[in-house]
Amino acid sequence: MTESTGFGCAACCAEDAVVARAHHQSHTGVRVEQMIQDDSHFIVSVQRCGLCSQAFVNVFTEYVDWVASRDAQYRTVLPITDAEAEELKTGRLSPHRAGALGHGRRHLQSDWPSEAGEPSVYWDSGVFEVREGR
Ligand SMILES: [Zn+2]
Repeated sequence: MTESTGFGCAACCAEDAVVARAHHQSHTGVRVEQMIQDDSHFIVSVQRCGLCSQAFVNVFTEYVDWVASRDAQYRTVLPITDAEAEELKTGRLSPHRAGALGHGRRHLQSDWPSEAGEPSVYWDSGVFEVREGR
């Protein structure tokens, strides 16, 4: 049995990454359940889909770019089990280790380098690195 299937609904885990991202950005789509870390350049929260109650960990990282007019922003949204959500919320699982949960699972990636006009949004898979911005 793999973990790559069975997460979310047609809205929060839409095959089209842009459609999924729109649902995650909507106030009625995916709501913040609990902030895990809330620094200006590193924001981690546990969120939940308003339609199917799927839990997600949302990792936002910003890198201040003193040259470009806009800072580089990166966001990773990974579906997680209720047990994993609980571990994150109670601090038993560090947000810095959340990327390891991505093993064998899809995550919604949004990359917005400071020089780009708009973010590139895509589904990625595998373990990802969680780094604090600056
Ligand atoms: Zn959903």
